[in-house]
Amino acid sequence: MNGASNPERMTIRRSGERLTRSPAGVSTAPIQVEPLLDGGQDGENTAMRTVLDPGTITNWHAHPRGQLLYVVSGTGRVQSDGGPIITVRQGDSVWFAPGERHWHGAAPDDTFSYISIQSVQDGRAVDWFEPVEMRP
Ligand code: MN
Repeated sequence: MNGASNPERMTIRRSGERLTRSPAGVSTAPIQVEPLLDGGQDGENTAMRTVLDPGTITNWHAHPRGQLLYVVSGTGRVQSDGGPIITVRQGDSVWFAPGERHWHGAAPDDTFSYISIQSVQDGRAVDWFEPVEMRP
């Protein structure tokens, strides 16, 4: 988070104009991220469109105020700590509760893109943990 507030008036971001890469060390491979809302103040929403290559998954992490994830295209997998790995597809949405340890990623044979919304608490919208160890 950059500490800035969301814009105070109508703001248009043109498609692709803010494409970035995820920070290193939070996923098994780099992830393409297009920030849609950068809110950094407590209670503001952040939002982004994310694209993962086949097989790329995030580390374990949690969102202090929860996260809504909406699948735009492809095939994804999600898991809450202690639960099963669940496949999600275009049009599905997933809510991760505040503080719930989870990961999300692309299926091994398909790309995965989603839009996510997560609000800020104590200046951040995510807490990153260790990589996921896949069991056979
Ligand atoms: Mn998440």
